[in-house]
Amino acid sequence: MPRIRQLDPSLVNKIAAGEVIERPASVVKELVENSIDAGATRIDVALELGGVELIRITDDGCGIGPDDLPLALAPHATSKLYSSDDLFNIQTMGFRGEALASIASVSHLRIVSRPSTQVEGYEVSGDASPPAPRACAAPTGTTIEVRNLFYNVPARRKFLKQPQTECSHVTEQIARLSLAHPHIGFTVTHNGRTIRNLPATKDRRERIADFYGADLADCLIPVRSEEHGLVVEGLIAPPAHSRASTKWQYLFLNGRFITDRRIAYAVREAFRGLVEHDRFPVVFLFLAADPHDYDVNVHPTKIEVRWRDAGLVQSQVLAVLRETLLSHDLTPAMKFNRLNSGAALIADDPFDSPTGRGPTPEQQRARQALADYLKRVDPTQPRLTFSPPPFRTDALRPSIAGTLNAPRSEGYPSALDHPARQTFQSGAAPPFDAPTQPPSAPGMETPPDGSSLSDVPNAKADAAAFPSLPTTTPANGVMQIHNTYLVAQTETGVLIIDQHALHERILYERFRERILQGPLESQRLLIPEPVSASPTRIDTADHFRPMLAKLGIELEQFGPNTLAVQAFPTLLKNVRISEFVADLLDKLVETENASTEETAIHAALDMMACKAAVKAGDALSQDEMHALLEMRHLTERSSNCPHGRPTTLELSTRDLEKQFKRI
Ligand code: ADP
Ligand code: MG
Repeated sequence: MPRIRQLDPSLVNKIAAGEVIERPASVVKELVENSIDAGATRIDVALELGGVELIRITDDGCGIGPDDLPLALAPHATSKLYSSDDLFNIQTMGFRGEALASIASVSHLRIVSRPSTQVEGYEVSGDASPPAPRACAAPTGTTIEVRNLFYNVPARRKFLKQPQTECSHVTEQIARLSLAHPHIGFTVTHNGRTIRNLPATKDRRERIADFYGADLADCLIPVRSEEHGLVVEGLIAPPAHSRASTKWQYLFLNGRFITDRRIAYAVREAFRGLVEHDRFPVVFLFLAADPHDYDVNVHPTKIEVRWRDAGLVQSQVLAVLRETLLSHDLTPAMKFNRLNSGAALIADDPFDSPTGRGPTPEQQRARQALADYLKRVDPTQPRLTFSPPPFRTDALRPSIAGTLNAPRSEGYPSALDHPARQTFQSGAAPPFDAPTQPPSAPGMETPPDGSSLSDVPNAKADAAAFPSLPTTTPANGVMQIHNTYLVAQTETGVLIIDQHALHERILYERFRERILQGPLESQRLLIPEPVSASPTRIDTADHFRPMLAKLGIELEQFGPNTLAVQAFPTLLKNVRISEFVADLLDKLVETENASTEETAIHAALDMMACKAAVKAGDALSQDEMHALLEMRHLTERSSNCPHGRPTTLELSTRDLEKQFKRI
């Protein structure tokens, strides 16, 4: 048991000062941190009236000896810090020696403690001055009671919320502390009722399940990397589990919950294009670093740290998340709910807060289309629900990144490899030898937009070039429904694909890869195309001139209210040029302020992919459908379109068998 000492004033001055006791949850945080520092294996938290009336924390830690008890209550007294050098080697949760003193000054505080070396316990009250320990019976460990918080600070007390709200703040603190320390057992009671019972475990996943349910915990994907002495370990949820706020992004450093702007950015970047812009992935990241590599003495609540090399930390987190996401099949699975009503596919996201949003219109349409189809088959069949999938290890793919980086012949033979089934015009060599007449399926309609399928190559003939496709590759047969969705059989079930979303992702990745190699080829227009332009559009065109050049777009001012498109990327042939440029400029206006060139290019490629991709309502030939499905496996992040909406849903044969009572 380390002894408590008063810090000398020069050291006190070096410690980040400030009030840390704001509400019951902050008291709980400080006291539980002390119990963790005391080596407790079990911590019980009892609250009355949201903690305003009573907070009692009991631990089985090392205890405080009778001689040290009065010191524990003194300001700037601690057993955890001795010299200013220690400030850069903090191994404990606490070190300021301030918490007990400040809690004692705004409440009625009582400590009962017995170190294992003592036969009896001692009790001390914060009200007595000087505090005089009295012998009493007590188990080994420490109990601290805090009554009547802010009884002498009415202004603070007035700002406290309803007991239920204060209690939920406490629960959030317990979530943070207990996720970081799963080997400690916790209980939380409120007004005598147990609200959390968290048995000690070696497995972080179990602790997450205790808080957020097994459905989320089971699907979490492990991440791990170790570089330059920094270990990044964690569990991340597939994008389908994303939520409406960043609250479910937990970051810990050496057992302490922290927030970090740059790591939050790395998380956002890693999931970019996998979640919609107003959704946030669920991640639990546990960093372990040498305490000399960061400074925790920045903020009195220690919620932020200052890294020696923040850039390195950010890039390591980004890299490990990216790699992990790229090497997993993130296709969401569909699940059944047994109900007697007619067929309907409904959203069922148990992880969404009530304020969370329902399915996107695309998802709704996909569900409805399948529901309509199934209703025709059997109107009494059970309801289908869509929910995030439990993560399956058999869905692991070999490195998709590897496949993509492999040299690919210029003329990758697929109908949809090239935007919108366009023809290649003079100046650009055709990327593949296209047969003039497609082998169109019987009964197939001509696309409503009149676009020709005449340059569709026979993708099937080339399928043999990719012999070892993953298990989700359609075995045979693919069908288009409502000219919008593809339904394909796989070895393990059925895939339902949003043709536009998937094609958009494929083109986006292709364009992105292409632009990394240098500016896109562009074609001078014989007759410049006019675009009506407000002063804002003209300014934007000016501001983004170098970036537009990379995209192969050249604009010139042409009179006060007009821009003229002089050159346009050869990749985008079937697109209405003036409309495209006008839309692109408007989109760039939105991103202009905060944006880097990278974000602007992302926005532009995004729009190019969207405009060039097949649309909902476009009839596709068998070959085109096959080509799309093949490309799916060769494309990074193919589970989601560039805006983060899913491209593909999967229905497993096992679920079907269960529904038809075959198993
Ligand atoms: P700090 O944690 O920064 O040292 P605190 O005011 O929180 O400061 O606590 C003062 C001292 O009291 C600690 O350094 C520790 O020695 C002792 N202490 C507080 N709580 C406990 C506990 N639950 N078990 C054992 N010792 C404790
Ligand atoms: Mg402390």
